[in-house]
Amino acid sequence: MEFSTRIIHEDNIKDGSGAVMSPIILSTTFERGEDGINYPGGYFYSRYDNPNRNALENKLAKMENGATCVSFASGLAAATNVFQSLKSGDHIIIPDDTYFSIRSILDQMFAAFGIRYTLVDMTDLAGVEKAIQPNTVLIWMETPSNPSLKITDIEAIVRIAKKHNCFTVADNTWATPFYTKPTDLGVDITLHSTTKYLGGHSDILGGALIFKNADERYERIRAFQKLGGAVPSPYDCWLLCRSLTTFVARMPIHSNNAMQLASYLEAHPKIERVLYPGLTSHPQHPIAVKQMQNGYGGMLSILVKGDRSSALKLADALNLFTHATSLGGVESLIEHRKSIEGEASPTADNLLRISVGIEDIKDLVEDFKQALEKI
Ligand SMILES: *Cc1c(COP(=O)(O)O)cnc(C)c1O
Repeated sequence: MEFSTRIIHEDNIKDGSGAVMSPIILSTTFERGEDGINYPGGYFYSRYDNPNRNALENKLAKMENGATCVSFASGLAAATNVFQSLKSGDHIIIPDDTYFSIRSILDQMFAAFGIRYTLVDMTDLAGVEKAIQPNTVLIWMETPSNPSLKITDIEAIVRIAKKHNCFTVADNTWATPFYTKPTDLGVDITLHSTTKYLGGHSDILGGALIFKNADERYERIRAFQKLGGAVPSPYDCWLLCRSLTTFVARMPIHSNNAMQLASYLEAHPKIERVLYPGLTSHPQHPIAVKQMQNGYGGMLSILVKGDRSSALKLADALNLFTHATSLGGVESLIEHRKSIEGEASPTADNLLRISVGIEDIKDLVEDFKQALEKI
């Protein structure tokens, strides 16, 4: 069966009441069996495991064609657990435009433990290979990247990583398994901020790691999850399972809307450039065609003609696009990334990042039309 069917029908919790939808099991502790040792229900204490968390992890593993999944309280908690599986002296290769807080984690938490990184433009394969050092253990990918929507050739990076005995992580938060399945392209660990498209309604914070194989690193990270306890609550897991059932219904609207909005904006005289992998003008469009299915996602960035103030004016003049951070919800959002990333960030001053929601595209285009007339 296709994953959309399996997500709806498999891994649901039956409580004996006949309830069609899964209950939320809030209990933090579970009863031992008659022998006083074993746990007949398979659960023992909720930091270790919980029926709602188990259901969520099974569903997410299926969506990404992985062997298993470990879930967390946020996307960054998931990333932190990957870095915790390294050892002092290890070196990592990170995309030069990686999600900004990944760098903050490495600088503020892991530098003190002797973990070093090099920032590389992942579209330059020779540059990636050149950056590998004898102690490089991990190549991190994020495609499309944030906020410049660069596309990384996942299979090519996996080949380089294998040659140098590195493992690979792909942050698939933006592409989602609807468009790209890194596991199928050879990636060892697929990372999600489930806060975004998987949650889909801007009301759940969560993260997950999906493993291609239940290998030794998986065992280590599973142990960290249980011991460290950066886990999602039963309610969060339940709500996210609910969101996953409508995932395949939401995603085509996001990408169709994004494609149409990108085309409209690209032709507009007040827009300098549109960054969207579905456009033939995108520098890595052929790679996107090769590794993305069903469309090119719901995220795009635009460079507004003029400077920072022109971009901020446009964001302010829009009525349907809320000027707020985050992405992947049913509602459209727009954000001036430089303001959030700070002056040290390489992001252009006139760049706005757009998370295209599932409103009617006619209304979204109309909103940009009136806003662009005001700047
Ligand atoms: C939001 C995001 C994260 C961080 O996830 P949180 O759930 O906010 O911790 C990581 N990577 C990408 C690409 C994101 O968009």
